Amino acid sequence: MQNVVIIGAGQGGLQAAMSLRQEGFEGAITLIGAEKGLPYQRPPLSKAYLKTGDADALSLRPASFFEKKQITLVDGTHVEAIDRAARRVMAGDRSFDYDHLILATGTRNLRPPIPGAEQALDLRTLDDALRLRNALDRPMRCAVIGGGFIGLEFAAVARALGHEVTLAEAAPRLMARAVSPETSERFLALHRDMGSDIHLGDPVCAVRADGITLKSGTEIQADLVLMAAGVVPNSELAASAGLAVDNGVVVDTRMLTEDPAISALGDCAVFPDPVTGRAVRLESVQAATDHARLIAKRLVKQVDDPYGAVPWFWSDQADCKLQIAGLAAEGDDTILRPDGAVFRFAGDRLSAVETVNDAKTHMQTRKRLAQGPVARAALEAAEFDMAQV
Ligand SMILES: Cc1cc2nc3c(=O)[nH]c(=O)nc-3n(C[C@H](O)[C@H](O)[C@H](O)COP(=O)(O)OP(=O)(O)OC[C@H]3O[C@@H](n4cnc5c(N)ncnc54)[C@H](O)[C@@H]3O)c2cc1C
Repeated sequence: MQNVVIIGAGQGGLQAAMSLRQEGFEGAITLIGAEKGLPYQRPPLSKAYLKTGDADALSLRPASFFEKKQITLVDGTHVEAIDRAARRVMAGDRSFDYDHLILATGTRNLRPPIPGAEQALDLRTLDDALRLRNALDRPMRCAVIGGGFIGLEFAAVARALGHEVTLAEAAPRLMARAVSPETSERFLALHRDMGSDIHLGDPVCAVRADGITLKSGTEIQADLVLMAAGVVPNSELAASAGLAVDNGVVVDTRMLTEDPAISALGDCAVFPDPVTGRAVRLESVQAATDHARLIAKRLVKQVDDPYGAVPWFWSDQADCKLQIAGLAAEGDDTILRPDGAVFRFAGDRLSAVETVNDAKTHMQTRKRLAQGPVARAALEAAEFDMAQV
């Protein structure tokens, strides 16, 4: 193998290039990204960047790194097609041959089919964040569509900067896909205490020039509307190349598609959860970077281990750092420890632990879950002390 091409120069694509070199790959690495400039971190876009505007702090590696590691970064270039028979990808009048191709195309914002949605702003790229930051340079009435991590992080920053915030969530609780009802409640109280007006179970049915309209008929006046209603995977490229796609690019336990010359990783990849075997697609820096490391090991060292990393997530909202170790499914049972940590169970097995400003329990959980399943009875006997199970 002489030639690896990576499509998508985000967190996972860059990590794949770096890990290939770390594992000792000496062939050519071409990292092609649709966005202009150096690869950067997205998490601060809805957190510190909105306050500081420091774009340099977001860069994952300086330009000199790419020269030193002989990684060819082709930025501002959108790959339009993959020719699997010729092992070549096409972008405008350019083409790039590969021995192995890694799809790291991430996601894009979901645009619900509601009238006026095109007027709403996004928060996915550095350009989006810059646009939002500029808009927040004077007092604003902000309407946020979606009570997931990104909408809530934006709401917390906007309130801290003194703007008015109204947030509308279609589901009956906040962050419903990701956390327990207990954690949803805790964050609802946090945001209401900060002065945000939160509407639950009331989907937005129109975006107007002067605000949003909810299904209930409530009209909210706003100068700025943020669309934070979730994302869709960028998997069209894979689909048109004939690869299996089902809410993302389908890969096996080794992050390999059905084509032995094409892997996929990160936000765009659907893989079998190592614990339950169910097909999952995770939107986190941890998953993207751990997938990348696994693929590099397989390509360079022929290590064929299945993917088995413990998932973990974080979200910073005001002075609360929410951390989740493990992966729960909706409907998992919950037990609230007196100090606020939430333990979630799939049957008798611990599926995840949610903590707020409690890095110790979070790290203990990650460490313990990496060793194998934790039984509910064992945790109960240890009075929910992760260090004792
Ligand atoms: C505002 C915000 C806050 C976040 N906060 C957190 C957080 O606190 N914690 C956390 O774990 N995660 C967070 N995330 C999610 C995290 O950023 C993603 O999970 C991570 O970036 C996924 O990496 P990736 O490489 O799969 O995709 P990305 O980093 O999204 O990179 C994909 C890249 O592929 C490019 N691309 C797509 N199609 C093509 C094509 N055809 N040709 C060329 N290039 C293409 C895209 O332009 C993009 O640059 C946040 C995301 C956002 C937007």
